[in-house]
Amino acid sequence: MILRLRTRDGMFRVKTEPDSEIKTVISNLETQLKKKNVDLFHSKISINGSTFNVEDILYNKNSDFDLKHGAILTLTFEESAVIPETRPTSTVDSSFLGKDSVTSDEFSVTQFPVDDLLDKKDGIIKRKRTSLCRHSDKGMCEYCSPLPPWDSNYLNEHNIKHKSFHAYLNELNESTNKASGSSYIPPLKELSFEVAKNCTGGHKPWPQGICSKCQPSAITLQLQDFRMVDHVEMSDPQLINNFIESWRSSGSQRLGILYGTYEEYTSVPLGIKAVVHAIYEPPQADELDGITLSDWENEEHINRVANLCGLTKVGVIFTDLIDAGNGDGTVICKRHKDSYFLSSLEIMFAARGQIKNPNYTKHSKSGKFSSKFVTCVLSGNLNQEIEISSYQVSASAESLVRADLISASTHPGMVFVNEKTTNRYVPDIFFKETNRYDIVVKKNAKPAFPNDYLLVALTHGFPDNPNNFFKSNKFTVENRQYIGKFQDIGGLKNYTESKDLNIFMENLSDFHLLCFLFELEMLNTKEKKLCCDIAIKQDPRLCYELFETPGWKTVMALMTVLE
Ligand code: ZN
Ligand code: ZN
Repeated sequence: MILRLRTRDGMFRVKTEPDSEIKTVISNLETQLKKKNVDLFHSKISINGSTFNVEDILYNKNSDFDLKHGAILTLTFEESAVIPETRPTSTVDSSFLGKDSVTSDEFSVTQFPVDDLLDKKDGIIKRKRTSLCRHSDKGMCEYCSPLPPWDSNYLNEHNIKHKSFHAYLNELNESTNKASGSSYIPPLKELSFEVAKNCTGGHKPWPQGICSKCQPSAITLQLQDFRMVDHVEMSDPQLINNFIESWRSSGSQRLGILYGTYEEYTSVPLGIKAVVHAIYEPPQADELDGITLSDWENEEHINRVANLCGLTKVGVIFTDLIDAGNGDGTVICKRHKDSYFLSSLEIMFAARGQIKNPNYTKHSKSGKFSSKFVTCVLSGNLNQEIEISSYQVSASAESLVRADLISASTHPGMVFVNEKTTNRYVPDIFFKETNRYDIVVKKNAKPAFPNDYLLVALTHGFPDNPNNFFKSNKFTVENRQYIGKFQDIGGLKNYTESKDLNIFMENLSDFHLLCFLFELEMLNTKEKKLCCDIAIKQDPRLCYELFETPGWKTVMALMTVLE
């Protein structure tokens, strides 16, 4: 019989017998895995929902766990030696996005294609001749001269609350590199609020010693005047309808991961928008008043499916919906300027998401700067309608979380400053506030300060001409067992057996179906890519190619067995 072993490096098959010991299965996997820095015999294994230390069950037999042909076991291992990271690359597999590598002095950094595109633009805002102009057609004056993309009057007039990342970058670049004729100095610098490592001050390392060289200086929090992403676009309203459906049928809240692309957003000078094409719902326990995320074991697998479709993880969305009880679909408005937009707990969550998904840029010495990961909330607006709001937290918020300086407080509108401990150095933190005499005053942020200082609001919308990336969203959404929805082979069969190629291609064009299909591990990478291409391009010629592959024939054979 064949057992399937799921690892972070993919799925492996091991041939074994019911009477064989688990030890032989692990040994077999070890030869297939070919990794020197992993000790599989000291890893963890999940069998039928229970987790064991491998070494505890080495001499058990397969039959002891009732393991049958085709069973899937999940192996979780630690890699002992960390391979030094000299070449940061984005989480997106660049080969599928056709990205160029850009070389800076230090190392090569793979940027998002939109950054490569905007790097080439100056974003200068051209203006037409006005009635105030007193010069000839060839002349120019203060009323008609071109403006830089960060011009605050222009942004105010166009109701743009923050300059774009690339406008900010170009502005910084102008002051950093204007004078220096020679080599390029990366203008961006990642903020660090931690005690500097490897201090040369001649004392014992922190926490045994600290000096003025390595201790972080005082922090003054200000509203961030730029944003890494300006706008979030849901490519299809049906994405949101589908997502809210779980709340409609259960009353409990829901969280989804946003997959899409980053593209130029022309409504803002040098702007960027996150375009969402799919929402994946990871394992979670949903309550009426919140969500608890469970371990997301197949996260890497889902990321790879998205990459094969040319998509990347762009953010997260969650609901905070309470029916207003009017029987007309209205919901209670909880979030407004007198309460909060993102609670302090959600700010911590958003910050961790951003830290986990850094923005790679060749304009920062470290190769990284902040993040393009967005956080969207579906909640009631002032008219009690369901509305999407999109946010990011500031680069300072990321650094505060990285240095473990802040926590969520019991007051959702306030962020708590952590206490100093023997291991945690907490510098003075201030924020600027306008008092009732309209004077800007610096206030100590301890013990807590308003959330708004860490928050950046993005705009949101649907495209004028919806052009659905995925054509279908009929296949059962993952992890919805709690509302009686199960993904199974029977469902897959229903959506893949159509002899009408147009119907077949449309049904295959469903992110949830592709994730489920690929998880069966019957298709190789090339066959999976072919499925994704059919899903996106809707080209019948690719179908004929797919039908001839061994992997697809295996899938079809499995379907036939079901009859
Ligand atoms: Zn003029
Ligand atoms: Zn020092």
